[in-house]
Amino acid sequence: MILVTGGAGYIGSHTVLTLLEAGQDVLVLDNFCNANKKSLERVSALTGREVPWVEGDIRDAALLDDVFSQHEIDSVIHFAGLKAVGESVQKPLDYFDNNVNGTLVLCSAMSRADVKKIVFSSSATVYGDPASVPIRENFPTAATNPYGRSKLMVEEILQDLAVSDPQWRISVLRYFNPVGAHDSGMIGEDPNGIPNNLVPFVSQVAIGRREVLSVFGNDYDTTDGTGVRDYIHVTDLAKGHLMALDYLSRHDGVHTFNLGTGKGYSVLEVVQAFEKASDRKVAYEFHPRRAGDIARCYADPAHAEEVLGWTAEFDIEKMMVDTWRWQQKNPNGYSDSTLS
Ligand code: NAD
Ligand code: UDP
Repeated sequence: MILVTGGAGYIGSHTVLTLLEAGQDVLVLDNFCNANKKSLERVSALTGREVPWVEGDIRDAALLDDVFSQHEIDSVIHFAGLKAVGESVQKPLDYFDNNVNGTLVLCSAMSRADVKKIVFSSSATVYGDPASVPIRENFPTAATNPYGRSKLMVEEILQDLAVSDPQWRISVLRYFNPVGAHDSGMIGEDPNGIPNNLVPFVSQVAIGRREVLSVFGNDYDTTDGTGVRDYIHVTDLAKGHLMALDYLSRHDGVHTFNLGTGKGYSVLEVVQAFEKASDRKVAYEFHPRRAGDIARCYADPAHAEEVLGWTAEFDIEKMMVDTWRWQQKNPNGYSDSTLS
């Protein structure tokens, strides 16, 4: 059985669905600080399988000991954590506690239970402002905010852990920009309050929940002056976890992979693709650059292809069509959705 921390969240719920469809058994551990239980109910409805879950915090060592002793867990996919860059600047202690301390408590409990296989959610943010693109895994790392530093710290801790004990099997997945939703439109990204990320914001403008998109910067050294990112469909990302876990059944040590498409799209290209998918206009206006943003960031995904046999299947059109389907079926996210 696979323990999925943060399994009720955006990427976690899509990964749980993919795991269940592949015939795996899962147990979700989530404190629901940024998730709704409906996501798990819907995964259950979509797969026709029960989704067992425990409500609790990864920083609760006693709870983790119970979970590991009561269930036959052989590996962990670890999504649980806080992820808002701006908030991390305001609340660094919360971020280090949840993301770094939380992972320490989790790995210690795993060690006690002799479960030494983990897939960790890292981020392309660990590359800082890269000297060139596309970005390969051996590029230098740097962090410019507490969220990024928390990811880097955990990566380093996991490296040290593997050195200390060769039984550990660790996969570090550096996601680029996850977007989209399951093509049923039943599960998707449901940000609290005003979305920080581009695609949820664009989608809320299209549905009429927000008036106008602020485009942060049109003076970057890119084709149209707006920031370029590597958007990746969350279903492709979910599949990457399955393949990374499978790889760990055959290999020990730490294995780090970029999960991206290798293609960069500007903010305005994303807006255009969304307008096409939704057949709605997305009003936008230019604003100054957002602090900490970089001009361009996209992956060289060759390592994941060579080693895991993983490549992203879905293009930007599909990412936007699926986002829009989710948005239309759930205009206000999970909270007051009329879908059961
Ligand atoms: P999310 O907020 O939707 O999911 C995180 C889940 O973890 C939520 O369900 C939340 O309730 C839970 N959680 C948080 N702290 C917890 C704790 N202490 N104990 C138990 N549960 C806890 O975020 P997501 O987009 O699905 O991201 C999943 C992981 O991927 C995170 O670690 C995030 O940093 C990383 N990541 C996300 C992105 C992105 O753009 N979405 C990009 C790169 C990396
Ligand atoms: N962006 C924007 N307006 C927004 C949110 C984001 O113009 O309301 C831009 C941002 O400057 C970046 C791109 O969209 O160039 C992707 O930003 P996002 O926050 O989604 O992801 P990031 O790459 O920053 O993690």
